[in-house]
Amino acid sequence: MSKVLIIGAGAAGMYAAVAAARQGHQVHVYEKNDKAGRKLFITGKGRCNLTNDCDTEELLQAVKSNRKFLYSSFYTHTNQDVIRFFEENGMPVKTERGGRVFPASDHSSDVIRTLERQMSRWKVRLHLGAAAREVLTEDGRLTGLLLEDGRRETGDACIIATGGFSYPLTGSTGDGYRFARETGHSVTDLFPSLVPVEAEEKWVRDLMGLSLRNIELTVKDGKRELYRDFGEMLFTHFGLSGPVVLSATSEVGPRLKKGPLSFHIDLKPALSHEQLDQRILRDFEEQKNRQFKNSLGRLLPSRMIPVAVELSGIPPEKKIHDISREERRQLVRLLKDLTVTAVALRGWSEAIITKGGVSVREVDPATMESKRVKGLYFAGEVLDLDAVTGGFNLQIAWSTAFLAGSSIP
Ligand SMILES: Cc1cc2nc3c(=O)[nH]c(=O)nc-3n(C[C@H](O)[C@H](O)[C@H](O)COP(=O)(O)OP(=O)(O)OC[C@H]3O[C@@H](n4cnc5c(N)ncnc54)[C@H](O)[C@@H]3O)c2cc1C
Repeated sequence: MSKVLIIGAGAAGMYAAVAAARQGHQVHVYEKNDKAGRKLFITGKGRCNLTNDCDTEELLQAVKSNRKFLYSSFYTHTNQDVIRFFEENGMPVKTERGGRVFPASDHSSDVIRTLERQMSRWKVRLHLGAAAREVLTEDGRLTGLLLEDGRRETGDACIIATGGFSYPLTGSTGDGYRFARETGHSVTDLFPSLVPVEAEEKWVRDLMGLSLRNIELTVKDGKRELYRDFGEMLFTHFGLSGPVVLSATSEVGPRLKKGPLSFHIDLKPALSHEQLDQRILRDFEEQKNRQFKNSLGRLLPSRMIPVAVELSGIPPEKKIHDISREERRQLVRLLKDLTVTAVALRGWSEAIITKGGVSVREVDPATMESKRVKGLYFAGEVLDLDAVTGGFNLQIAWSTAFLAGSSIP
């Protein structure tokens, strides 16, 4: 039996604790907050999208950084294993659009409660309000932990499960990166990811709160296309947000840090330019004597109309029957390519995840043990791993945590 010290009672820390305790180890979890799972509590808008019910190859495809590293952990502990864990321990789940899995109760607190119950069932000692200050090593081997209050804890193994930098108010303040560096590991550049973007154009702010479904977003660097996807987006007081925009940042975020990118919104992706032109022509024929500004009700949400009218360059009071073919085409181009200049990523306090982290080259993918320090393991967001939205980031936390917890000899 080993004495295992785990830093962080988030998703990865608690899951690793149960896995290690089930192997018969004596497990201690140190959490700096006075509650476990503060970030878990706010996941999925309070409902916790805990995994995605797709096959393992699709899980891997959703991973944006270091996909290959996750091969072992995703195949050793799959999304079905995660679902089984929660269901067998009294928390039924349900699957929604896009394979997103949630607790049947719609309460993230049930995920936390299930983990807490399992920890206590397996006699894990959870120390709340106990921040780790330093990871102690000797001759390339883990020896223990120094806590903020000056106490020293000896141990045979330690799992760093401190999360990343995002939403620092939940306790994830990047301590794990420091522990990694201090014990001889490298940490790659860190970026807020799955994060809203700030826009240059003033009209974007006029649309604050407007959400658009079924749009196609293309992100370009000059003429070069960097990203394209369908989905839902949201205008905010500073720029753009919503699922498709957040997902785009997991691809283009590091590039956007260096300078502006153009976000092209196709408001009518199901129609070609020609089809949209025909559709507008039909609408116009039925309202020939109306003013242009009063003619777009069937085409656009009402809040969007004044902005579209202004950007189209067509005089608002112009009668429909006076609108030229070229003006109509101009309107088609606008609706198929509403362009927003993204100038910056929003900060850590709005980022769903951290892109970058402890270099996976220094960690064994089959056990999550450090290649530099014997007995030291990493799990969850602290590693240089990230995925798109849909339950995939928590699956990374569960799978890597399971592997770490169950690999300790
Ligand atoms: C708003 C929001 C919504 C999200 N929704 C989803 C979703 O629905 N589905 C999904 O898959 N992912 C979602 N995510 C991402 C997901 O929450 C993270 O990927 C996941 O929580 C990472 O787990 P972790 O255990 O590695 O880190 P965390 O959950 O961040 O846990 C780390 C823990 O370590 C503790 N800690 C840090 N430093 C110390 C220290 N020095 N000593 C002691 N304790 C310490 C922290 O207090 C914290 O409790 C969301 C993220 C956010 C911000």
